[in-house]
This record gives sequence, C-alpha cells and structure tokens, in this order.
Amino acid sequence: MSTKPRILIVGAGLAGCLLARLLGRSGHEVLVCEGRNDPREKNYAQGRSINLAISERGIDGLTQAGLRDRLLERAIPMPGRMIHDRQGHSAFQSYSAGGDRAINSVSRSELNLMLIEAADEHDSVELRFGVRAVELEPSTGSVVFESINDGSRQTETADIVVGADGAGSAVRVALESALADFKCSQDFLDHGYKELSIPAVETGPHAPFAIEPKALHIWPHGASMMIALPNLDGSFTCTLFWPYTGEHSFEAVTEANVCDLFRTHYPDALPIMPELVAEYRENPVSPLGTIRCRPWHNGKVVLMGDSAHAIVPFYGQGANASFEDAVSLAREIEARPDDVPGALDAYYRDRVEHADAIADMALANFLEMRDHTGKRWFHYKKKLEQYLHRKLGDRFVPLYEMVSFTTIPYDHARKRAARQWRAVVIVFAALFVSLGLAAYGLSNILNQLFATGSS
Ligand SMILES: Cc1cc2nc3c(=O)[nH]c(=O)nc-3n(C[C@H](O)[C@H](O)[C@H](O)COP(=O)(O)OP(=O)(O)OC[C@H]3O[C@@H](n4cnc5c(N)ncnc54)[C@H](O)[C@@H]3O)c2cc1C
Repeated sequence: MSTKPRILIVGAGLAGCLLARLLGRSGHEVLVCEGRNDPREKNYAQGRSINLAISERGIDGLTQAGLRDRLLERAIPMPGRMIHDRQGHSAFQSYSAGGDRAINSVSRSELNLMLIEAADEHDSVELRFGVRAVELEPSTGSVVFESINDGSRQTETADIVVGADGAGSAVRVALESALADFKCSQDFLDHGYKELSIPAVETGPHAPFAIEPKALHIWPHGASMMIALPNLDGSFTCTLFWPYTGEHSFEAVTEANVCDLFRTHYPDALPIMPELVAEYRENPVSPLGTIRCRPWHNGKVVLMGDSAHAIVPFYGQGANASFEDAVSLAREIEARPDDVPGALDAYYRDRVEHADAIADMALANFLEMRDHTGKRWFHYKKKLEQYLHRKLGDRFVPLYEMVSFTTIPYDHARKRAARQWRAVVIVFAALFVSLGLAAYGLSNILNQLFATGSS
C-alpha cells in the first residue's frame, strides 16, 4: 500500500500557502516554514497596502482549493484600463469585447493572510513562522532553519522539499550549487518601481474613492509611467515604473522637484496625492527582473512560483502563474505517491514552457503599457481585436483575454494569438489584392469601352 510523501514547504507566501492548502485537503503531512513572523500576530501585520491583480488563472487555483468566495469578497473588479494623459483627461479602455470581464484588485497582505488561515485549517498542515532556511542539502532534502528571533537552529527533512521562497530563493541557490546541469539567468530592467498612494476621500462622485474605482489607472508617459489599483478602504496603491537614470527618472526626480514633475506629467493625480513628497522620499525603489532557470527539481527538491520563474509585473500574472504551479504540483504529487521524482518531473514539464511564455509576454506588455496605451492607433487596434472577437467568437480571441480571462496554457495562448493575427493579415491582404484586381479589371473594361467609342 502506498503512503503519502511528507512535504516541507519553504516560504508561506502566496504559492507556498496555496500548495499547503491543496495538499492538506488531500491529507498530506505538510510542514511550512516561513522566514517572517506570523502576520496573524498583531505586531507583525503589514502596514502598507500593496495590491495585486488576480485574474482567471488565480481564481481557478483558489476555486480548486475551495477559496473562490473568500478571494472575491476581498476583491475590487477592474473591467478596463483608465488612461490618463498629460492634459489631465482620462479615457476608459475595456479589457474584454463584451466589457463584462474583469481582473481583480486584491491586497497582497490580505490575500496572503487568507491563504495562511486556509492552510492552517487542516490538521495535517503545520505552519512555523520566523524561521529562515539557511542551509539545504538537495540530495537528502535536509534543510537547516534559523530563528530570526533568537538565532536558534533546527534541521528538518522530508520526502519532498518545495522552494516557494520567492525571487531571492535560497532553495534555488542550493539547487544550483548541487546540480551540474542547472542553468539560471537573471535579467534586470533599467527600470525600478516605487509605491505611492492616493488616500480615500470623504466627498466626490466616487467617494470614498478619489477616482473611478472600477479600473486599473495608467499614466503612460514614454519610458516612465504610473499605475494605480483600488483598495477596499477607498485608497489606491500607485506604482511608479521609472528608469533609474535619465530625465524622468528616480535619479533626476527628488523630493524637491517631484511636485513640479507631477504637475507636468500627472496633473490630475497631484491634487489627490497629499503624501506625495513624504512617500516619494521614504519609500524604496525596488528592482524589476526576470529569472529563468532549469531544471526546477533534482527528484527531491523542487521550485515553484517566483523562485522558479520571477517575471516583471506588467501582465499582472506572477501570482496567477504561481497559483497554477501550486495546482499542477499538488495534482502530480497526488497522482504519483510512490514516484516522487516522476511527480516532480511531470510538474516541471507541465509548467516550464508556459513560465517562459508568460515571462516573454510580461516583458512585451511592459513596452505596450509604456509606449502604446496612450496612442490612438493602439486604441483602434484594441477596438479591432474586440470587434473581431465579437464577430468571430472563439475563432479570434485577443491575447490579453486569453491570458487574463481563460486558463489556456500561456504558451498555447501566445501561439494561438500569433496564428489568429497571421490569418487576419492574410484575409486583409487577399481582400486588398481582390479589390486591386477588380479595380484593374474595371479600368481595363472602361478603357476598352472608351477606346471603342472614340474609334
Ligand atoms: C510591483 C509588483 C507588482 C506585482 N503585481 C502583480 C499582479 O498584479 N498580479 C500578479 O499575479 N502578480 C503580481 N506580482 C507578482 C507576484 O507578487 C509574485 O509573482 C508572487 O508574489 C509570487 O509568489 P511566491 O509565493 O512565489 O513568492 P512570494 O510571494 O515572494 O513569497 C515567498 C515567501 O517566502 C518567504 N521566504 C523567502 N526566503 C525565505 C527563506 N530563506 N526561508 C523561509 N522563508 C523564506 C518570504 O518571506 C515570503 O513569504 C507583482 C510583483 C511586483 C514586484
């Protein structure tokens, strides 16, 4: 008779907690060790509200864990983008052809807390906080944890060790030094990000929100842009995605001139950001990068989420993709209790090409949001895509909709979008050629008629 493998998850972030919940539901013995202190304890709750856009893939993963309603009651739907120009005007662009599909703004800390509680509901799941993985022996699955509170050390072993410890993963580093064929690349943008806020208001057409709550707001200004996502308390979390150097950059803009810059480039945002100067001074600039590595496992230790594939946040898919990892890994572990290496390999093969695809698409979307969303032709391209989708249904689904509103695997969505556009170009080209030939034929007939008439 087969026994279920014992699982050690390093990191109680979004991916690690969903995996623990899924495995807990199927009766696996799971130990989750998290480097931070328990956010359920009052003193350790996070102060700043950083939010994420969760779309269909994330909702699907949480639904499989029985958590759909708990997610949606914490979410604000955003059915489109609100584009703000330098004159202070704004225009809404729907994300879907019917205008009825939405991505969801959710507080990251609220979501993490909800997942921690959900994982903890299972007797077979143990959560330990304030212990950081500091040493790992990938061949035996033995991990040394150090308490961040008193420095004490403890060693844990398991049949499967899951590295769900984020982009700076210690588990990935250990795997890299143990596997001769391990390949890893880290590419950082020459842009970083800084978080600011728009507080709730007491009066106004959208009160308690200062601006339209049902939209992801974008101020797209060439190489530098700002976005804002709504929070349930009426505030917005804004993120500046700016280059480190150059004219409109973190280097050039200081607390002394940040208001002047906002007056020129973000004129409608300035009056609703009373803490701008203090937040600009105090909040850090963090890097944005893509991490790709392979293989994701050695038959015992396995990577998931950002530890396996950190991506830039411009498609709003990092957490969504990490939730898909959790579902895939839980499914393979459940399906092959006697064959851990086989289960980890099946998960890796199921996910790796799709992680690569969303990494590429997220970089491409960075250029789209930065350079194109404010342009008229981009607006018409989106309108054409939505028109074709309305007329052709499933035969033409815009890439954004496939990524955000379906669970079609990322690489399949990307290839299908390319095929769809090729077909559209061929049809338009054929139409132009036919029209050209028809015009040419007509002019020949007319020429002959006039030639006959005048002879
Ligand atoms: C600015 C920004 C905006 C984003 N917006 C979106 C969005 O809109 N939509 C979306 O889907 N994604 C978004 N993402 C991506 C998303 O945040 C990540 O993809 C997601 O958090 C990955 O989850 P994870 O569990 O793999 O890693 P994390 O959430 O980073 O969790 C890792 C956990 O491991 C713990 N840990 C780390 N090291 C150790 C250690 N040595 N020992 C023990 N514990 C450890 C950490 O404390 C943490 O709790 C955004 C990212 C950024 C930077």
